[in-house]
Amino acid sequence: TKQHGRNGYTFYQRQMHENLNNKLTLQNKLRNALKDNEFHLSYQPQINSDSEKIVGIETLLRWQQKELGNIPPSVFIPLAEELGVIVDIERWVLTESCKQRKAWLDSGHDVGRIAINISAIHFNNNLLSSIIAALEASELPAKYLEIEVTESCFIENIEEAKKKLQEIKAHGITIALDDFGTGYSSLSYLTKLSIDTLKIDASFIQKTPENPKDCQLVKTIINMAESLSINIVAEGVENKAQQGFLSNNHCNTHQGFYYYKPADAESLFSQMSPASNS
Ligand code: C2E
Ligand code: CA
Ligand code: CA
Ligand code: CA
Repeated sequence: TKQHGRNGYTFYQRQMHENLNNKLTLQNKLRNALKDNEFHLSYQPQINSDSEKIVGIETLLRWQQKELGNIPPSVFIPLAEELGVIVDIERWVLTESCKQRKAWLDSGHDVGRIAINISAIHFNNNLLSSIIAALEASELPAKYLEIEVTESCFIENIEEAKKKLQEIKAHGITIALDDFGTGYSSLSYLTKLSIDTLKIDASFIQKTPENPKDCQLVKTIINMAESLSINIVAEGVENKAQQGFLSNNHCNTHQGFYYYKPADAESLFSQMSPASNS
């Protein structure tokens, strides 16, 4: 309905104006979110489907805005990249995550590496120095850290990306390639960049085992990773049928609601039985 408003604005113009205002408001709030203490971290375990032990934990950033409530990462991460505040935010994520992993280490919880999502902007902007600062502040040994990157980190300059990854890996940190299959997916990345772990995107897992084409695709990715000696993690495992399909096809590291929903450290800690110590 293209009705004219009182001041001659069309409905659409008013809507546009409102959207712009909302965006400006959100931008201002995001600029202040770190100093206003509005971020917190959620943690989601990765499970070995045979032993059912926790073999890794991914950190997921949460923004609980005082007036607007919970804003999803799919909204605020791209905005933080646009605003140039993503590096500062992820430095905080790195440090807090490493401190949390160190606390689990000190209390005897053997939960593998802590895996942290990194934006392409941060990857290309002194990521290694952020990592080193976080490890120093937390006193966490580097062998408990994994970095999750996406293919978007590599498109600008693959040789440069290779150098950066080698520097990071030289410290004993591992590299996971996130959302595999959804991005630019040049298979040469896998061999050129010595990726340690490949995370099959949840969208491919979702329709297994019902959809034969998706099953075939997932099996092909698993076999390819196996033949390249790359670890594989299935994301978004939601039910027993998916769990069974993946396990039967030699994919034994699973992450998803079937096992654990992302939760804050305290509630995850209370769910972790002493049996998860080893
Ligand atoms: P991601 O890295 O692919 O993270 C997995 C997402 O899937 C998370 O969404 C998680 O809550 C959700 N998930 C986990 N298990 C299941 C499941 O069984 N079913 C379904 N449907 N979903 C599941 P979330 O927390 O909303 O995060 C969305 C994205 O935001 C992440 O996707 C990641 O790309 C980004 N993100 C989160 N934290 C950070 C961060 O610190 N830095 C950067 N650059 N990105 C981040
Ligand atoms: Ca991730
Ligand atoms: Ca992912
Ligand atoms: Ca994602």
